[in-house]
Amino acid sequence: MNSNHDNNTTISFFKEDVKIFVKERNWAEYHTPKNLVQAINCEAGELSQLLLFKDYSKKNIEDNKELFNSISDEIADVFIYLISLINALDLDLTQAFKNKMKKNKSKYSTKEFNNGIYYKK
Ligand SMILES: [Mg+2]
Repeated sequence: MNSNHDNNTTISFFKEDVKIFVKERNWAEYHTPKNLVQAINCEAGELSQLLLFKDYSKKNIEDNKELFNSISDEIADVFIYLISLINALDLDLTQAFKNKMKKNKSKYSTKEFNNGIYYKK
């Protein structure tokens, strides 16, 4: 049983695991930024397709094991290609996250966005 979970797994683990997976298959030449962005979109499309024209609640999804597993697989596919893009660009995800969250906190200040409204008046 794999003992890795979200609360004890580092970003480095994901980056290294995907890097090895790609290297062992000699796929690095295909993992160009353009191809990886398109692959992310394809996988996001597969995720979207599972919910297209459906109006599942969280409970509906949890109660439908097959659907839940399919959604889980597609989320992982998106994430794996995203990690591969991060690897291909030698991006430090933690720095990118922190920089963008700082911008988001400034753009969507709690002063203006504290009542559930998702847009500026
Ligand atoms: Mg997929």
